[in-house]
Amino acid sequence: MFTKPSRKIHRVFIHCSASDHAHHDNASTIKSWHLARGFSDVGYHFFIQKDGTLEYGRDIEKTPAAQKGHNLYTLAICMHGLKEENFTQAQFETLNKLAVQIEHNYENISFHGHCEISKKACPVFNYNQVLDLDRYGSLNKNDISLTPLVSTKADDLPDLKLGSRGESVELLQRLLFIKIDGIFGPQTSRSIKAFKKLQNLYTSDVVKSYVWRLLVENEKISY
Ligand SMILES: [Zn+2]
Repeated sequence: MFTKPSRKIHRVFIHCSASDHAHHDNASTIKSWHLARGFSDVGYHFFIQKDGTLEYGRDIEKTPAAQKGHNLYTLAICMHGLKEENFTQAQFETLNKLAVQIEHNYENISFHGHCEISKKACPVFNYNQVLDLDRYGSLNKNDISLTPLVSTKADDLPDLKLGSRGESVELLQRLLFIKIDGIFGPQTSRSIKAFKKLQNLYTSDVVKSYVWRLLVENEKISY
């Protein structure tokens, strides 16, 4: 079902196809829509039909074209459907199986709805409940989750500031729910300032252990 790609993956995004028509219930229809929009291929890596059949779309070695501005280091799954009540149990079962398989391949990976980073309602159904996600988008059914991972590390995490680079910056960007590139640049700076402002902290962009701890305790939200 899932073979780990060589490119880095941090997040998995869930989408819906915004159609309930039976003749749209396949990846090739979605592909034709995406080609018509000028894409080189279907934007999603996976497509789940109403009967639970899993279809493979874009090569998982390739970055998806599915979440504008948030495609890097992601996988994209599309569920066929428009209205919440029309998604099927068979689809949810396939989605769960796929999510668990993906999760097994990573130390920490999170699952999100397209709606978390856009104004769209996509994927319409309650994916948090269907996948039993915690507030960071980790699968609760598995022991590995971002929350304890960061909690145990909070005191060991390095201080970060504009210009910092590396894995700890990637972790920070995950917690801020912004684009992950491992470089503490202007966007990370703006986001951490916005976060600290909401916490009534002095709004510099320096990240120290108390900021790490607050980020861990905070709800999943884009700053
Ligand atoms: Zn979407």
